[in-house]
Amino acid sequence: SGPDPAIQIIKERLSNVKHKILILSGKGGVGKSTVTSLLGHALASRNPEANVGILDADICGPSQPRVLGVRGEQVHNSGSGWSPVYVTDNLSLMSIGFLLGSPDDAVIWRGPKKNGMIKQFLSEVDWGDLDYLLIDTPPGTSDEHLSAVQYLTSAGLDGALVVTTPQEVALLDVRKELQFCTKLGVPVLGVLENMSLFVCPNCKTRSEIFPATTGGAAQMCSELSVPLLGSLPLDPILARCCDDGRDFLQELPNSPAVAALRSIVDKI
Ligand code: ADP
Repeated sequence: SGPDPAIQIIKERLSNVKHKILILSGKGGVGKSTVTSLLGHALASRNPEANVGILDADICGPSQPRVLGVRGEQVHNSGSGWSPVYVTDNLSLMSIGFLLGSPDDAVIWRGPKKNGMIKQFLSEVDWGDLDYLLIDTPPGTSDEHLSAVQYLTSAGLDGALVVTTPQEVALLDVRKELQFCTKLGVPVLGVLENMSLFVCPNCKTRSEIFPATTGGAAQMCSELSVPLLGSLPLDPILARCCDDGRDFLQELPNSPAVAALRSIVDKI
C-alpha cells in the first residue's frame, strides 16, 4: 500500500496554521488539560489579532469543553468541514466531547477507531487561519500520540510541550515522554512544571508542595538538555475556575499563577 492519502489532506487542511504544538504528559492528573486551556487563553489574550485553536485529542477523557466553559455546545458540519466551537473571538475548540450525547457518555474504543478519530479531526476541522494550534493529548504515549505525530509531522509540527509535577513518579514518566519525542524526531519545546509551589494569598508565604523533589524538574531538564519553561504554582481558585469553565486569567490577572503563565507563553 502507498502512503496514507490522509497525510496530504491534513497537510493542506493545516497549511493556514502557523504553529502546531503537542501538549504531552507522562501521567494523568498532572494538569495537562488545565495547562492547555490556560496557554490557549494566554496566547489569545496576549494578542487579540492572533487566532488560537485547541484540539482536544483526549478521546477517552475529553475535558476541554468543561474547562473552557463550552460544555453542551454543538459542532456544525458545513461544506468546508466541521466548525470548531468559539470560546472567545479568537480562541476555538474541537473536542469529541461535543459529539457525545451526554458529558457522562463513555468512549470505549480500541486503537484503530481512536486513530480514525484523530485523523478525522486533523483533516476535517475548518479552523480558518490560526497562529497556534494546541493539541491536548491523553497521558502517556499511546495510539493517539502516534497518529497525531505521524500526521502532524508531515504538516509541520513545531514540537511538544511536556507537563509534569515535581514528584518523582511524574518525573520518571516524563523521561519516557521525552524519549518518545526523541525516537519520533519531535522537537521538545520545553517542560512545564505544575503545582510545585503554593503562595498563600494572605501572608504570601511560599510553600513547596513536594519538597523532597523540589528542583527535580530543573535537574532532569539540564541533564537531558531540554528547556524548563517555568513553574505554575498551585492555586485553589485556578482549580475552581477550571471546574466552572471560567477564564482564570480574567478572574485573577495579578496572581502569581498568571504571571508564571505569561512568562511561559513568551518563551513559546
Ligand atoms: P490532566 O489533564 O493532566 O489529567 P488536569 O488538568 O485535569 O490534569 O488537572 C487535574 C486536577 O488538578 C484538576 O482538578 C485541575 O483543576 C487541578 N489543577 C491542575 N493544575 C492546577 C494548579 N496549578 N492549581 C490548582 N489546581 C490545579
